[in-house]
Amino acid sequence: MERETLEFDVVFVGAGPANLSGAYHLARLAKQNNLEIEIAVIEKGSAVGAHILSGAVMDPRALKELIPDFVEQGAPLESPVTDDQFLYLTSKRAIRAPITPPPFKNHGYYIISLNRLTAWLGEKCEEAGVNVFPEFPGADLLYDENDRVAGVRTGDKGIDKEGKPKPNFEPGVDLRAKVTVLGEGPRGSLTKQLVERLGLDEGREPQVYSIGVKELWELPDDRYPAGRVTHTLGFPSDTQTYGGGWIYGMQNNVLNLGYVTGLDYKDPLIDPHAEFQKYKTHPYIAKLLEGGKMIRYGAKTIAAGGLFAMPRTYADGVLLVGDCAGFLNSQRLKGIHSAIKSGMLAAEVIVEALKAEDYSAKQLQRYEQVVNDSWIVPELRKVRNFHAAFKRGRWLGIVNAGLQFFTGGRAWGIFDRDAAHAGHLEMKKLSSYGYKGDSLEQRYNGLRFDGKTTFNKVTDVYHAAVGHDEDQPAHLHVLDTNICSTRCAEEYGNPCQRFCPAAVYEMVDDGANGRRRLQINFSNCVHCKTCDIMDPYQIINWVTPEGGGGPDYKGM
Ligand SMILES: Cc1cc2nc3c(=O)[nH]c(=O)nc-3n(C[C@H](O)[C@H](O)[C@H](O)COP(=O)(O)OP(=O)(O)OC[C@H]3O[C@@H](n4cnc5c(N)ncnc54)[C@H](O)[C@@H]3O)c2cc1C
Repeated sequence: MERETLEFDVVFVGAGPANLSGAYHLARLAKQNNLEIEIAVIEKGSAVGAHILSGAVMDPRALKELIPDFVEQGAPLESPVTDDQFLYLTSKRAIRAPITPPPFKNHGYYIISLNRLTAWLGEKCEEAGVNVFPEFPGADLLYDENDRVAGVRTGDKGIDKEGKPKPNFEPGVDLRAKVTVLGEGPRGSLTKQLVERLGLDEGREPQVYSIGVKELWELPDDRYPAGRVTHTLGFPSDTQTYGGGWIYGMQNNVLNLGYVTGLDYKDPLIDPHAEFQKYKTHPYIAKLLEGGKMIRYGAKTIAAGGLFAMPRTYADGVLLVGDCAGFLNSQRLKGIHSAIKSGMLAAEVIVEALKAEDYSAKQLQRYEQVVNDSWIVPELRKVRNFHAAFKRGRWLGIVNAGLQFFTGGRAWGIFDRDAAHAGHLEMKKLSSYGYKGDSLEQRYNGLRFDGKTTFNKVTDVYHAAVGHDEDQPAHLHVLDTNICSTRCAEEYGNPCQRFCPAAVYEMVDDGANGRRRLQINFSNCVHCKTCDIMDPYQIINWVTPEGGGGPDYKGM
């Protein structure tokens, strides 16, 4: 098959805050250094920002470094944070902490829609001469004869569900580059391939993840003003499950709320979407939502492993930035600032490489040094034991979080780091909880989706404005569906039906043999990557679908 090849100096894969900041900074630095270079950013979503979902309260530290007058230049900000509170929720009560714990103090920060901020950064990039290509998923990395990364191949368009070309077939394009920068966010599909191929995670802990499930609500009045930030702990998580909620006030009486569940949970009946729906039944939250209307929904994973789980971030011809390099501070649930900063540092290292005409790992190793010397790593060092402590339950996690503040992150070796393992290995079998079958009632007794405050997944997915051409091969590759009907059904009750927040996985009657078989409703997929992470047998492989497919997270 004939493929078009386009030559660039640098290709950035993924138009998130990390890569957009990197591309923008690089364009500016190249100009200052009289380097004539071609830069491309590719994005799988239908537009820059379409697949971007975040909280978000942004620490503006890095954006100030990138664009010091970002406010004057019209960066889309919902509101400066005006007021912070931290609540502990029991099943009936909301107890306000007398002082807001330091990681949850957000004065000087901004509530933003990261979808809007990235769209704005995308425009800045184009003004600076960067080629921004939405609807272009990076499907494979290109390697040269010496196994160095040499660019990226974008996905083919116009393949039908049997894998045959349709009349509109267009082969993907080979974008060749001196340096390829992966900024795919958590559990990037190319990053996963690269890390495995080059062993970039050797000697590091496995990355652990959480999932955030979120809705935007239109409220009838200003009962929750723009600028107010609330974080909650407690209900509905059990004490063995990492979790917490957020409620942020946006402009025009829009309430932004969501719930994070650690993807290292033990109970196989946990359903992060149901956890969030249950969260909204708490009297404090239900009252806030009274008379309001849910207008948007979405879900996305968060790379929470921190310092010990960061892979090597460079190799021949390639750098990793932002969440796919694991730079998020999970204690503060903040990664936008470090994503932006890492993109900028990557740009500075690439300029040195361009001047030296050397794109080898030896040259690009400089990136690791500058990240270590910047504020990213010291910030992560102070919270290096934060997430691990929650593996021993909520109370030890909280005690450790408090102590870390005084010890600079030290935990006196109480966590057995050698025993660190990926989150899916924490999931226990149905039998260890005494569950009979996979009925959700056993965990979420009494939770109903009333269509007013609580919604089922299908209704919620409608509010994520997801679209995929149905006549294409499923982009969720299940390597052995036989396991689903047999071992997985018996051992875990097919947890994919629950951990997926978009009703992609469904076990349906198979008629003949009385078993159920897996049906993949791939067109519902919100690209959160939870299935790739949490499947207990690791037989689900998430790959990019045809360009432009997926959610449309306007205002999220
Ligand atoms: C629920 C939730 C709440 C959060 N709250 C906050 C908060 O309040 N404050 C804060 O600072 N941080 C928060 N974060 C974290 C923050 O959003 C991330 O740290 C940040 O977005 C990381 O930026 P990134 O550029 O690395 O990746 P992302 O923002 O994930 O962007 C990656 C982009 O790459 C695209 N992409 C991926 N793979 C490919 C491919 N193969 N080809 C083409 N395109 C691809 C994606 O579609 C996406 O547009 C939150 C995250 C979540 C999920």
